[in-house]
Amino acid sequence: MNEKIQRPFTASSFNQFLQEQKLMGTRCEKCNALFIPPRAICAKCRSDQMTWVEFSGKGKLAAFTSVNIGLTFMNAQGFDRKNPYQTGIVELEEGVMISARLLGFNPQDPASIKIGAPMHVEFLEIGEGEEKRMQLAFRVD
Ligand SMILES: [Zn+2]
Repeated sequence: MNEKIQRPFTASSFNQFLQEQKLMGTRCEKCNALFIPPRAICAKCRSDQMTWVEFSGKGKLAAFTSVNIGLTFMNAQGFDRKNPYQTGIVELEEGVMISARLLGFNPQDPASIKIGAPMHVEFLEIGEGEEKRMQLAFRVD
């Protein structure tokens, strides 16, 4: 971890890391604040001294929603009103929140989804061929 990663602190870099199955954010070198997705400027102290950090991918569920009418690319995967999928906010053990697709819950029984449930990151491969890519998801432990 001594070698500094030289990539711009952008959403596109964040996505690139996802394709490598890494959950990366930034840490402010001045005040140690963490940001995921990454920020180039610290929201707390306005410093631009940022460094990439890899997150453990462990956390707990902070909020969720069942999506009945989803994005086109989700509908293309067979999700619809009868087969909803879940997205939510996971609070990572490092103390920051991130929104992602949720896995491992029974979509027909949203009441079974518990706030505070332990979650771990899963890099979900979606699409075919050229369109193939990793989507950020968290699965209940
Ligand atoms: Zn800062």
